[in-house]
Amino acid sequence: MERITERLISLLKVSSPAGKEQEVARIIREWVEGWGYSVIEDDIGNMFITSDKTPKLFLNAHMDTVVPCDNVNPIIEGDIIRSDGKTILGADDKVGIAVILELLENHKDNPLPIQVIFTVQEEIGLVGAKAIKRDMIKAPYGFTLDAGGPVGNVIIGAPSQFTWTYKIYGVAAHAGAYPEKGVNAILLASKLITHLPIGRINDMTTGNVGVISGGRATNIIPDEVELRGEYRSRDEGYLYALLNNLEKASSIVEEGGGKTRLEYRKEYTRFDLKDSEFLKKVIDIMKSNGFNPNTIYMGGGSDANIFNEQGIPTLLLGISGSEAHSTREYARISEIKEGYRLIETVVKRLTE
Ligand SMILES: [Zn+2]
Repeated sequence: MERITERLISLLKVSSPAGKEQEVARIIREWVEGWGYSVIEDDIGNMFITSDKTPKLFLNAHMDTVVPCDNVNPIIEGDIIRSDGKTILGADDKVGIAVILELLENHKDNPLPIQVIFTVQEEIGLVGAKAIKRDMIKAPYGFTLDAGGPVGNVIIGAPSQFTWTYKIYGVAAHAGAYPEKGVNAILLASKLITHLPIGRINDMTTGNVGVISGGRATNIIPDEVELRGEYRSRDEGYLYALLNNLEKASSIVEEGGGKTRLEYRKEYTRFDLKDSEFLKKVIDIMKSNGFNPNTIYMGGGSDANIFNEQGIPTLLLGISGSEAHSTREYARISEIKEGYRLIETVVKRLTE
């Protein structure tokens, strides 16, 4: 087995759900300090790795994985690494970490002028990245290696996201004896939902109702329902129009005799590096080194949203990994190696 694969397997075997990244962090720290790099951890557990050279760019990956991730048993079948089906694999984002560590080890005698940022709690709302103090980031731009395959994908933008919670209150009553005394919150919630744009709303915008809960028994008219959903868009104006529509939808409930309470929260902000000098440079480097760049937008958020929000242009580069967040997750060894070749090429050229 080659070193990069071997190291990835060791990382995959260490359980690291969000908030419990300490063990994987300890192992990473031991390796990189052994190669002569300096490591700083902030209060929440984000790890910052540097050499004695002033960083010209940074590389980022996250150390946590989604669950189930206890006792991951990586299985190698030819070119494929997968779990045994009982857990996720954790290629998201340990392939990113393995690629970065390989780069650090290969250049330990003459370190590249880069900073490495391994974050915690990415999967539960970019919590680690949001906690990073701006002055901890020492480079003017960087890459987040958290985009799955195939190698060549360059993610140039992602949406803003709002999550929302809608509480719908009715009036409880005995369903058989006094139905006319009740106001059915489930019925009102259903009417409200049919008024909301859901799914792929336009090419920049998506919406979802993801959770519905309420009701107590078949013989009680339900007096409380909670809906939880989200809107994402690369068009912020449109996003605010959707939130306005969401607020106005309360009239549907009120007309039916119910009450509402709506809360929403911005999770992260959009970015779009389509016209940036940084992207142009990266595309040129890729083309002149035999890579086939494929620029795309991502529908999800990542640590890159937070870095871009801080004014630090950050692109995501595709490495290996498919079917993330499921027990079918897998990665391809040949693609991991190709991903490594891409990262090394781009980093060397951008920092020379
Ligand atoms: Zn990820």
